[in-house]
Amino acid sequence: MNGAVQPQGRDRQWINQAVKAEINLCFTCGSCAVECPVNRATNRLDPRRLVWMANLGLMDELIRLPEIWLCLNCRKCSHVCPMTVKPATLIAFLRWEAFRKGILSESAAQHRRTLQDRLHRERAAAVRDLLAEAAQRRPAPPLSHAPAVPSSWKPFAVYDGHETRISSCFACGECSNACPVCTDRSVLDPLVLVRGTLMGYARELIVSPGPWVCLQCRSCSAACSHRVQGHLVALALRETARRTGVADEVFLRAWKDKEKEIFGAYADALVRELGAVLNFTA
Ligand code: SF4
Ligand code: SF4
Ligand code: SF4
Ligand code: SF4
Repeated sequence: MNGAVQPQGRDRQWINQAVKAEINLCFTCGSCAVECPVNRATNRLDPRRLVWMANLGLMDELIRLPEIWLCLNCRKCSHVCPMTVKPATLIAFLRWEAFRKGILSESAAQHRRTLQDRLHRERAAAVRDLLAEAAQRRPAPPLSHAPAVPSSWKPFAVYDGHETRISSCFACGECSNACPVCTDRSVLDPLVLVRGTLMGYARELIVSPGPWVCLQCRSCSAACSHRVQGHLVALALRETARRTGVADEVFLRAWKDKEKEIFGAYADALVRELGAVLNFTA
């Protein structure tokens, strides 16, 4: 944006009416910015900033910002907001407006989806590599003989004092549909995490990428009509991996660094490749 910002009262009112995102309740606490996985890794997607620009009615600027295309639609920002503001809903609306006004073509939108799918596949591949390296560091006996990994679902019924309700799963698949990472099921499928654990495959799941590429967005849990807490099952599997040495300290540090690197490359590629089409302002 160049020059002084001019608040657009009419646009603000229109956005408020068109999107039920409660943006006027934002008091800029920043919780959404802290929780956003893209922002944490790249410092390039601040939902709070978008909400405040919407509060100023800066519609023309908003629909041309790269941030709205970096968003993974995980809705962590909305879940964490103490004021029930829904930045994710606002972003979905801004994308739709950009699309409706012809700022982004169908082929560019498809390319953006491809970049996002690639992001998650690269994250999963990195976890596989790092877990394989961790396995080399692990002393005998091999994991398959380790009694510390439960073969029953019962130890997964509670995580950190919260019931996971894992035994209530009836394999409907709603959690898979709601999961923003589950576009490629070899990367992550919350149904597989829950059903697999229930059927006694925790040992196999803790050496898979799923528990680690999970964004902890809770969309699976929110979608489940039987109130199974898929995000807690993912956390319980991570904890089991830590406790049994499948994921050692070296893995944890390396995964943190690698994930930051992969998210950074995703943001760079998206801004570079869509920038020409969108004439990004940032
Ligand atoms: S968490 Fe909610 S109130 Fe806090 S900055 Fe974000 S949108 Fe505003
Ligand atoms: S939906 Fe997820 S990726 Fe998008 S702004 Fe919110 S927290 Fe960030
Ligand atoms: S939505 Fe709930 S019941 Fe359905 S598969 Fe997922 S965890 Fe199981
Ligand atoms: S919390 Fe659930 S919906 Fe969100 S990324 Fe993890 S498995 Fe998918």
